Amino acid sequence: MSVLINSTAKIKILGQERKETETKGKGIFNNMEIEAGQANSFMWRESPLFWVIDNRLKNEKGIELEFWNHRFLKDIYDDFTPTQVVRKAAQVGFTTLKVLKSFNAAYYRNWNIIYLLPTFSAVQETIPSKVNALITNNPILSGWIKDKDSVFQKKVGKGFIYYRGTFANRIESEKLESGVGITLSADALIMDEADRSDQAILEQYESRLKASDYRGKWYFSNPSNPHTLSQKVWAESDQKHWFVKCGNGHWQYLDFFKNIQNGKFVCETCQKEITDEQRRNGQWIKKYLNRDISGYWISHLICPWISAEQIQKEYETKTRQYFYNFVLGLPYVGSDVALNKDIILRNIDISEPNWQKNNVLGCDSGLKKHWVLGNKQGIFRIGVADKWEEIEELIKIYDIETCVLDALPDLTEPRKLRDKYLGKVWLNYYKPEIKKADFISWDYKTRTVYSDRTKIIQQVIDDLVERKIRFQLKPEDLETYIKHWEAVYKIVEKNNLGIERDVWKTSGTEDHFVHATNYFRLALEKGQKEGTEIKSWIKEDKINTGLAPDISKIAEKSGRQYEL
Ligand SMILES: [Zn+2]
Repeated sequence: MSVLINSTAKIKILGQERKETETKGKGIFNNMEIEAGQANSFMWRESPLFWVIDNRLKNEKGIELEFWNHRFLKDIYDDFTPTQVVRKAAQVGFTTLKVLKSFNAAYYRNWNIIYLLPTFSAVQETIPSKVNALITNNPILSGWIKDKDSVFQKKVGKGFIYYRGTFANRIESEKLESGVGITLSADALIMDEADRSDQAILEQYESRLKASDYRGKWYFSNPSNPHTLSQKVWAESDQKHWFVKCGNGHWQYLDFFKNIQNGKFVCETCQKEITDEQRRNGQWIKKYLNRDISGYWISHLICPWISAEQIQKEYETKTRQYFYNFVLGLPYVGSDVALNKDIILRNIDISEPNWQKNNVLGCDSGLKKHWVLGNKQGIFRIGVADKWEEIEELIKIYDIETCVLDALPDLTEPRKLRDKYLGKVWLNYYKPEIKKADFISWDYKTRTVYSDRTKIIQQVIDDLVERKIRFQLKPEDLETYIKHWEAVYKIVEKNNLGIERDVWKTSGTEDHFVHATNYFRLALEKGQKEGTEIKSWIKEDKINTGLAPDISKIAEKSGRQYEL
């Protein structure tokens, strides 16, 4: 066998020696029969990039893949670092990479892979349009994969790929798991659009890797917020940046604010124009040398087919969040997309709480039970209970009128309470898109309430912003409570029909008090009016029961805000 690698050169950039391996489209495997190629499967196994080039693989549109413009993808095709993370802009050729790399690994390494997408419907949409299209367009893949029609799993040689959505309801999940056995274990987890997935579910899936030596965790995502799981992994990675060299020999990575001027790419140091060819001929350079996690950052600035002018125009015409996430491939946090602590703190009401009547309780279930207690005048106690008996005590002591409990994860104890305090205790299930206008529905037969998670979070946030929810608590009592609220953030998602909508998501950290407040809000709604729609908050400032005045009036009088 002659040389597979056309050229190898060692170059030094910023003190890092880097081996540059070049492969051209006309390698010796080209046009070789599949059987003959199998004999060389060692190389195909070691380098998915060789495999892609030598088999002249095509993308889902039937166009042969090229690595002239997509040069920055070459290293990522061949990177088998167990934990790897890519923060990327939109449409950079990454879907094809993820799918082909997973097929290559399943076939040549006999791996079982769990391929996670944000939602159940994303799985139903992506598999036919991307995955099956790739199989159809590439005979080598059609030869490997017989059960092309299954949306949820594919057998690739001896390996399996299981496709799952992180936001799936329980019935969907159970149906899937029963089909493949309870012990679905894997060698690698591919987390596609990790930032738009259910963060807790992503973490749960990591336990499926225990039996494997490799334990691969591949996070590939368009970033949304810096607190998501994949962005935390990025922070701990070697953080590779694509460095380019200007005509005068200055190495640098491209930064929108420094390198784009008057619709042109220019060198940060000497202002000489940087050509498309120079952008193409970049190198991945690690920011941190001795880290085990491999990280890459792909922005539109390193895509030679996208001009400086186009990027400049996006900056001028799109929202800041869109520009950061989809053009720069960076997370974005603005006051319009997250709740900050000042919004909660300014709702502190220093007057005595009136807890004589109409008290309601919201409780987020789990190992620890986070609860929020109050009435229409405000929230006057929050806490964390270890046992359900403590929750029952609260129901008795405060003569709770309505209590809403999270039905999941373990239904047994909440159900007992519901049956013991019939009509008082309700179980909540989050259920998206119940109806357009009504996003809460009360089932009187089973004492169950169904609510739309995103809409109820939005409602509570609106109430907080409009100062309709007050806290008869001290700032120091609210520290953890505030942290939980800071874990939620808003992103824009497209549904199957391409319609954009706001969705509140939670980053990896805890958000139990957020949900406890949602349940508190539901319980209050139930007490106000036995309807289905959340009406605007009813203020009772004028009722003569020694009620707390509106916080805004206190702020006005005292002329100051409350701060931690
Ligand atoms: Zn220069």
